[in-house]
Amino acid sequence: MSERRLFRRRALWIAGNWKMNGTRAETQAFFDALKSSFPKSDLPAALHTAIFVSPLSIDRALTVRGDLPVEIGLQNVHFESKGAYTGEISGPMALEAGVKLALVGHSERRQYFGETDATAKRRTESLLAQGFTVIHCIGETKTERLENQTENVLARQIDDGLPTEYSDRLIVAYEPVWAIGTGLTATPEQAEEAHAFIRARLATCYNREAAEKLPILYGGSVTPEVFPALLALPNVDGGLVGGASLKPESFRTLIEQGVEASRSAE
Ligand code: PEP
Repeated sequence: MSERRLFRRRALWIAGNWKMNGTRAETQAFFDALKSSFPKSDLPAALHTAIFVSPLSIDRALTVRGDLPVEIGLQNVHFESKGAYTGEISGPMALEAGVKLALVGHSERRQYFGETDATAKRRTESLLAQGFTVIHCIGETKTERLENQTENVLARQIDDGLPTEYSDRLIVAYEPVWAIGTGLTATPEQAEEAHAFIRARLATCYNREAAEKLPILYGGSVTPEVFPALLALPNVDGGLVGGASLKPESFRTLIEQGVEASRSAE
């Protein structure tokens, strides 16, 4: 079986991370606009689309989304189910609100809020055990890349940060920190090299079969201009998108590109 065929057996994700953007009114306007322009035919079964919104916009997003096949997720959920953790949100709270999808270990959580591999691991393990699907983010800084430390950093983030047990609800996002919000997308060569390294490392953590099934998303200044070339790579299984997910037109275009990539595989 060719490498391309193995790639196409994996799920493909187009996920938007809104960060601290999107009031309830803006969330409503986004979904109203997305609904009017969303691809009319059913999405391929293996294609998932999602938006990670502000916790205060969750109920609005779930309501206004209607029957659009866009999952709604939270950007940060605590590993404990309740207690003295001021400012945090628990898994049971998210589940009660109707959310079963979470981001963990985003570089902005690591950079500004003290997230470490150890705490990211606790979050991902706890959320998976509660039934969530988790997109767990990893990626090197610019300095680490310039010092040829990319593979060491990724290996550490995988070995120390990912759950000990494989789950088919685990997704990894490779997000080079130097590419996030900078307009500097990784080249297809850089992305494929990192994704292939991550997949090989996942095979040592879990096993080869699990590593082949696990979606690895690319994140870092994804736009409709660069996305098709990334989607064509054998080890890239979609995108985690910040800026370009805030506009309904560009998010819809990214979904259409995902549909195209899924169809060309069938
Ligand atoms: C992100 O928020 O995870 C991200 C990749 O942002 P951007 O697409 O804006 O670089």
